[in-house]
Amino acid sequence: MSLIVQKFGGTSVADAKKICAAARRAYHAQQLGHQVVVVVSAMGKNTDMLVDLANQVCDDPHAREMDMLLSTGEQVSVALMAMAIHNLGGKAVSLTGGQIGVRTDSSHTKARIQSISTDRMRNLLDEGNIIIAAGFQGVDDDLNITTLGRGGSDTSAVALAAVLGADMCEIYTDVDGVFTTDPRVIAEARKMSNVSHDEMLELASLGAGVMHSRSIEFGKKFNVPIHVRNSGVFTDEPGSIIGPIGESEKRAVSGCALTKEEARITVLGVPDKPGVSLTIFEKLASVNVAVDMILQTAGTDGKADISFTVLESELNRALEAVNAAASAVGATKVTHAADVSKVSVVGLGMATQSGVADRMFRALAEAEINIEAITTSEIKVSCLVAREQGLAALRAVHSEFELGKPPEERVTFEDSLLAAKKAKETDAVAVVNRLQSMEDLTIHGVRLDDSQSLITLTEVPDSPGISADVFEAVSAANIVVDMIVQGIGANGKANLSFTVPQKDSDKAAGAAKSVAEKIGGVVDSQTGVAILSVTGVGIRSHTGVGLRMFRGLSQAGINVELVSTSEVKVNVVVAAEKGKPGLAALEEAFADVIG
Ligand code: ASP
Ligand code: MG
Repeated sequence: MSLIVQKFGGTSVADAKKICAAARRAYHAQQLGHQVVVVVSAMGKNTDMLVDLANQVCDDPHAREMDMLLSTGEQVSVALMAMAIHNLGGKAVSLTGGQIGVRTDSSHTKARIQSISTDRMRNLLDEGNIIIAAGFQGVDDDLNITTLGRGGSDTSAVALAAVLGADMCEIYTDVDGVFTTDPRVIAEARKMSNVSHDEMLELASLGAGVMHSRSIEFGKKFNVPIHVRNSGVFTDEPGSIIGPIGESEKRAVSGCALTKEEARITVLGVPDKPGVSLTIFEKLASVNVAVDMILQTAGTDGKADISFTVLESELNRALEAVNAAASAVGATKVTHAADVSKVSVVGLGMATQSGVADRMFRALAEAEINIEAITTSEIKVSCLVAREQGLAALRAVHSEFELGKPPEERVTFEDSLLAAKKAKETDAVAVVNRLQSMEDLTIHGVRLDDSQSLITLTEVPDSPGISADVFEAVSAANIVVDMIVQGIGANGKANLSFTVPQKDSDKAAGAAKSVAEKIGGVVDSQTGVAILSVTGVGIRSHTGVGLRMFRGLSQAGINVELVSTSEVKVNVVVAAEKGKPGLAALEEAFADVIG
């Protein structure tokens, strides 16, 4: 018998009428012959209201009591939802996280799921009940109530779907699905029929809002197909499937996003030697600052510049830590910019196609937008721009990649359902075996790619269109660029580094030189560098991955020349002869989590 999980977010259970509508949906699904597990959030803005109350009675509420308080929101909605189903003549039982057996660690207000028992749910389902599960909550080993972090009901729903081997996890919300970008910001934004787990991971962490990013990590790890749809639409209008395949194999870009409140910090004149990045990022981690884009470019005189972005709200805390670290490592200066935003394009197709980055850079140049920094990963290109130009930048890339129009060769909704079904792990025993630590960091592997060369361009004037010129020239020579890193150096000039296949390094350096002749700049190429990468799931939400990498390499005395990060991968470039020892160092550093 098929089993579906239906999750109703706060707006979909905001009042009695909406609860009854959700109840009808669940009951209807059961009558169609499915077993049904419903996961609900707190009604409307209830959680916000509870947070507000807590802050009125206490300046600094204890996390344990916060969880005790916030978990009540979901307890209200599960009971009401069960009653509403009874009223329709159905059978339903509401359960709290603890009653289900959702075990988490003890980090209150941001707990991670460790395991979920299925016995009680199975029995209740077999007796013909609809299960109404409280989202967002669990219990630790001492039965303290814990919560998973704001927005955590999505994660509860996908986790339940994973352990129960559900055929589908439906996420009912107040939007029609996953859009090419936020439709409230760009009117041309279009609902996608399919998005791959990887693309969604990137988009969710870029603040695409629709779903809690940890829920997508579960989806990917346990191959749970997720259907995001609008609870306000009464027809069976499909939403978007988040599953194993994207909307189109041909299209390079599927979606784009703007992350507004970023701030950039640059540490200039860092001695280019092992352990330096480690010192800086350890210091940031020790004050709990999450670092986003990290880019290191070769500076002048054997010194490097390291830039990264943090949330603007954490800028002051970050600066304090970085200033201390900078003097410890002997860097010359720390600069920052508080008013920047990040515009990113994401697409599975760009992993195999060239000419995506340069199109993005050209589109920005044509809108007269200067790019302050660039980082790329296999399926994402991100550019940092002045905040006042953020919206214009988003608009420019959305239209450049024609995201408002459906792709010509489009994977249909039905195809994607079928692919999701096929990909689903059918071996329930294997899933259960992995449940011991459901939300642990999973590292798939460590890899060495020594087929690339590194081209660097320093002393380039910092003005719109420079990167577009460079990468158009490279792409015109039919060269596929892998990593791109651009930052601004001490003298206000831009530094640009990128990697290309070794066989193309002369051609690429030539193309870069021809551009440098026109605009200024010095080209250097280093044939045969090693790219070391760590791939896995949870790489960014488990913040320690970069640190572990830097630590492993630094202990082995290996200098990092370039860094780029994404949701599923961290890449670093090291000297060719350090490739093998670097690989060994990373294998050791991640030995306990490689699965
Ligand atoms: N009620 C919780 C919150 O508002 C969990 C959720 O809605 O997903 O954050
Ligand atoms: Mg929510």
